[in-house]
Amino acid sequence: RAKAGGRGGWRRFAADMDEAVRRRRRRETDLREALTRGELSLAYQPVIESRSGRLTAFEALLRWHHPVEGPIPPGEFVPLAEETGLIGTIGAWVLQTACREAASWPSSARVAVNLSPAQFRDGSLVQVVRRTLDATGLHPSRLELEVTESVLLAASDANVAMLHALRRLGVHIAMDDFGTGYSSLSYLRAFPFDKIKIDRSFVQQVGENAQSAAIVKAVIGLGASLGIVTVAEGIETGAQLEWLREEGCDEVQGYLLGRPMPAAEARGLIAERDRADWADRAACA
Ligand code: C2E
Ligand code: MG
Ligand code: MG
Ligand code: MG
Repeated sequence: RAKAGGRGGWRRFAADMDEAVRRRRRRETDLREALTRGELSLAYQPVIESRSGRLTAFEALLRWHHPVEGPIPPGEFVPLAEETGLIGTIGAWVLQTACREAASWPSSARVAVNLSPAQFRDGSLVQVVRRTLDATGLHPSRLELEVTESVLLAASDANVAMLHALRRLGVHIAMDDFGTGYSSLSYLRAFPFDKIKIDRSFVQQVGENAQSAAIVKAVIGLGASLGIVTVAEGIETGAQLEWLREEGCDEVQGYLLGRPMPAAEARGLIAERDRADWADRAACA
């Protein structure tokens, strides 16, 4: 046992580092096998059109249930997958699973899939998406690909070209976490996004912080004049929802409207909504 302070402190520090390195290596091996062991799954979070309350899409969110450590958040293992090159295989699996699932939904709700910048480094992304659409039979207009500003930051020209190629397939492209990068506006000029997802760090402050409210208002206005659909992420309170609706934000997403849920539950929600819609229409007739 190392003594506290002095040399002992350093020995303790070195031991901790060793342990951290070992842990990371173990995680890496585990992640490598997670796919084949069936430990990865997708959770689906509803996205609602604010004007009508209609369920327009589900965002597919990756989940890892580790056999010993339990659930590990994507914020931890997605970066690991990117660093180790596993993101290619995992990303292709996410696409395949989300598209197959959406193709079986009893409605035309879209599915949104997150793409990592690392997936753009591999030249096969466009082909992977095209093949997945072919194989699953999902209509391209029902697939939305979410990218963050970092996709345009790195290898810009090549990545912008890939975004155009993806859109020529007929899929929609959304900019995720809008406002968190350092030159969000220039990215809107670099590529004509179909959708802007306003980051939840702004959305959650619209009630308390005048700056955040002004910024969100401006982004909604920007979307309206550029013909880009705006989505507010991370809505947790009725007051936030009310405010965004009044400001004319097109779509809303957040725990208040629905948490990410297993595929079967998402399908159930679609069926339930569908019945409610029919009841509404019958009542109006
Ligand atoms: P994101 O794409 O911005 O996804 C939204 C995140 O916000 C999700 O976290 C979601 O669960 C969370 N969220 C939704 N509504 C609320 C709310 O009302 N309050 C709060 N506090 N959080 C809310 P999650 O599932 O932990 O995912 C985190 C990030 O991991 C995602 O951010 C995305 O960047 C990444 N990620 C998830 N799945 C994938 C994937 O399949 N591929 C890639 N490359 N990245 C993924
Ligand atoms: Mg996203
Ligand atoms: Mg986001
Ligand atoms: Mg994010």
